[in-house]
Amino acid sequence: MTAPGSTVQRAALALLIPLLCAACPKNDPPAQPHIRVTSAARSAERLRPIPTAFNGERAMDHVRKQVEFGPRPPGSAQLEKTRAYIVDQLKSFGFTVSLDEFIAKTPQGETKMANIIGELAGETKTLVLLASHYETKRYQDMQFVGANDPAASVGTLLEIGRVLGSTRDKPKVTYRLVFFDGEEAFCENWSDCGTEQQPDNTYGSRHYVSQLRARNELENTRALILLDMVGYKNLELGRDTLSTRWLQDVIWQTGRELGHQKIFVDREEGVGGDDHEPFLKAGVEAVDLIQLNSYPHWHKADDTIDKISAQSMKIVGDTVLASLPKIVDKITTPPTGKK
Ligand SMILES: [Zn+2]
Repeated sequence: MTAPGSTVQRAALALLIPLLCAACPKNDPPAQPHIRVTSAARSAERLRPIPTAFNGERAMDHVRKQVEFGPRPPGSAQLEKTRAYIVDQLKSFGFTVSLDEFIAKTPQGETKMANIIGELAGETKTLVLLASHYETKRYQDMQFVGANDPAASVGTLLEIGRVLGSTRDKPKVTYRLVFFDGEEAFCENWSDCGTEQQPDNTYGSRHYVSQLRARNELENTRALILLDMVGYKNLELGRDTLSTRWLQDVIWQTGRELGHQKIFVDREEGVGGDDHEPFLKAGVEAVDLIQLNSYPHWHKADDTIDKISAQSMKIVGDTVLASLPKIVDKITTPPTGKK
């Protein structure tokens, strides 16, 4: 304890007073240049276009819309409505939209499917794909609306599309937003039916890879970022073990730089398979952002909108958008050193 007016205190005060008064205004008005700099900076800011930010509420509107359509399995009228909605949204963001339609041979017979592709042309034909599946798993006896699987990843992807489409300058690479049909198995479990060559899952992504190959676009396809179940209010993303490590590292590090170290965690997320697998097999580097094992409502009737949070989708959207320039830099910079 120190007595009031002790030597130490007096000495400290004597040191402090000149320091404090060095900053005293002496009744002068605030320095003019300071004000001028501030106002000049403000008007310059006014001239620059305001960058569009990812809006979690908009992503939530997309989730609500899809859930309202009801269960949306492949070949259903509800999925057709969902498709029309996604196409309309993409067009309104300035994307060129096309459909990749095909007939899939499933354990339940031939089924009409369609992937949706929205393209934002860049300065080069180098392709970066951002994707999600958009159909729900078919259940005979369950009203399954898939708010997280897949409405939230579709909503997040659409909102990412709005932000990308709002930038005035042409992007360095060509972006494609791809919405896959037929990701889910028709049989109860992922590998109950089908064969290694013709699995009962990932119908749309496998077909799309075959299309890229047929059009000689596969080698231009330099990265795939896949979103799947990214809207849970208790969002936590572990590291999918199949994903390309450097892509995953860029996204995880960016997420942490944005303050989301509790979301982008290091535990392994065993997924088994997803729409990135056909791309990896074709030599395309790919990452899956997925919360599977810690999502308690997966493939259940209560995968409903109350489990979804606008904030979670914003975290994923912001992180993916902030990662894109780093990913584009990495894939467009020629390797140095050896010729
Ligand atoms: Zn699913």
